[in-house]
Amino acid sequence: MFKCKNCNSLSYLFIYKDLPDRFCQHEGRFDYVRCKDCGLFQLFEIPEKLEEFYSSYRPHQEESVGYQFFRKMIIGHCYPFPENPRGKLLDVGCGNGWYLREMEENKWQAFGCEFDKKFARKLSSKLKMPVLTDEDLEEYTNFFDLVTLNFSFEHLNNPIKMLELVHKSLKKGGKVFISVPNIDSGEAKLFKEKWFHLDPPRHITLFNKDLLSKLLRKVGFGNIQIENLAIPTGFAGSISYKLGGVFHPLTWKINMVPGMLFCLFMRDGNYRISGIKGNGEKKKDSLST
Ligand SMILES: [Zn+2]
Repeated sequence: MFKCKNCNSLSYLFIYKDLPDRFCQHEGRFDYVRCKDCGLFQLFEIPEKLEEFYSSYRPHQEESVGYQFFRKMIIGHCYPFPENPRGKLLDVGCGNGWYLREMEENKWQAFGCEFDKKFARKLSSKLKMPVLTDEDLEEYTNFFDLVTLNFSFEHLNNPIKMLELVHKSLKKGGKVFISVPNIDSGEAKLFKEKWFHLDPPRHITLFNKDLLSKLLRKVGFGNIQIENLAIPTGFAGSISYKLGGVFHPLTWKINMVPGMLFCLFMRDGNYRISGIKGNGEKKKDSLST
């Protein structure tokens, strides 16, 4: 049965039906719907064994030197690197841990968080730093100075519970940064069901700026700020899907340069939102009002 991930409404409209997993090409067909009450765009139904769709997921794999260079040049600017004051950082959905390593080199005390216990344990011993699961995170209160969710929020099956955990785990005055694809962007409207950043079934919810701002305030964050993140991967991946139906690495790479030009005109394919704990009154009102 459908229950909106944001407002618990039971009513929805179909937006896209029978989409394949174009990126990793696992079997299955997936639908996206929009909540009739709050408007949240979300995957429905959600596969039971979501972890199976991460078995060949690139952000979890070891990176080649070439890919590391590409990442730095193309998407490096999308990751927050605040300098002062440094302290304890939690990166939720830390993938292969490259961001944690860089933040540690930058004198932050870095902690990762991954949902899959096995993956978290393996990553922790490889990185030689703590990688928590969401269950572990429940034990942390007023502990972190900074929490980041770099392109991971859209993967969460229970995004509100995670935001509440993040808020609890932050010190007063601590900051959260969340970077997500923008479902209201020109890019999403142009490429529709072949938009690279849909990524079914791994992307479960796609909050627009308005809904995510409201959610952050409801959880207790204040001083909400939003900036657009222009990344050519969305255009390049979408062209790959348009041409061949599925992800093709060479087409993707070739289209990175036109993607950069595209980003000069359409800069809102992704966005980053931030909030500070302690500056906002926790709101108890319904998000749909
Ligand atoms: Zn809703």
